Amino acid sequence: MIIVMEAEATAEELEKVLEKIEALGYKPHVMHGVERNVIGAIGDERHKGKLQVLETMAGVESVVPILQPYKLASLEVRKERTEVSVRGATIGRDTLMIIAGPCSVESEDQVLRAAQAVKEAGANVFRGGAFKPRTSPYSFQGMGEDGLKLLAAARDATGLPIITEVLNPRDLDLVAKYADIIQIGARNVQNFALLKEVGQTMKPTLLKRGMATTIKEFLMSAEYILSEGNDAVILCERGIRTFETATRNTLDLSCIPVLQRLSHLPIVIDPSHAVGTWHYVPAMARAAVAAGADGLMIEVHPMPAEALCDGAQSLKPDRFAQVLQELAPIAEAVGKKMP
Ligand code: PEP
Ligand code: MN
Repeated sequence: MIIVMEAEATAEELEKVLEKIEALGYKPHVMHGVERNVIGAIGDERHKGKLQVLETMAGVESVVPILQPYKLASLEVRKERTEVSVRGATIGRDTLMIIAGPCSVESEDQVLRAAQAVKEAGANVFRGGAFKPRTSPYSFQGMGEDGLKLLAAARDATGLPIITEVLNPRDLDLVAKYADIIQIGARNVQNFALLKEVGQTMKPTLLKRGMATTIKEFLMSAEYILSEGNDAVILCERGIRTFETATRNTLDLSCIPVLQRLSHLPIVIDPSHAVGTWHYVPAMARAAVAAGADGLMIEVHPMPAEALCDGAQSLKPDRFAQVLQELAPIAEAVGKKMP
């Protein structure tokens, strides 16, 4: 249920309503608006009718049901678009976030060169996987904590915040110690145990859509993180699986206007994992910004031919710099600021 407070409601009235929600067995999530406060009361759907009693309390304007199954992720609960900021990099509303870096952390030299190059090109977040979800157990699985340390060194050298993937709850404390943004990969989009634990870290989290996840399922997964109290969730579309084999996946750009109509959460597009070949990355990056994406995640490697993972889809630094230059007029045309 959504409890809409009156514009003149006092802090004490709000407090009393929050207490009552808890007494009724629901979890209150307050959204502080410019004009009025709104509370999302989340819990057992079957007995939500009992929340109607809140309408009799001082300071309450109305109590209305949330129609969508994803509650906190939905625009019904929060009309203002969510903005997420981390170490000076912002995503949401009119600010684009450009995340770039190699698929995986491979060596000190590779990471520092990549971080320096993407920073010079204009990216404002550095990516790199230390724990890699590989199709084959015999493929390179990532450097683990040594890789996280190298990412931290890259952050020290460039000032760029870092994003890196966590594969399972066992590694979460370790990853959260180093990461500025936690990445949940496509394969873990419905790992509900992981989603809940990441929700408890309160760290900005980028949640990738799975390769066979509907938009509704995607938002339900975001809801798992939000419902733990973590509201710094960024959605990321990275291509879905279709019959087409000319590209690694099919980039569902229509998810941008769809998600924007349903949710207030910012949306990042990852064209690299979507197309799987560097040739197509620039065009899809431009298209994503034109369609209203709030950010991009692009794989960049100083020497793609030598990459241990996803070299074929990684841009060389000079091509990446060119892509960002090409994006500037498109961003301006759609009212977004480049970082
Ligand atoms: C990645 O970002 O390197 C990655 C593994 O992506 P995805 O989860 O989208 O496959
Ligand atoms: Mn990759």
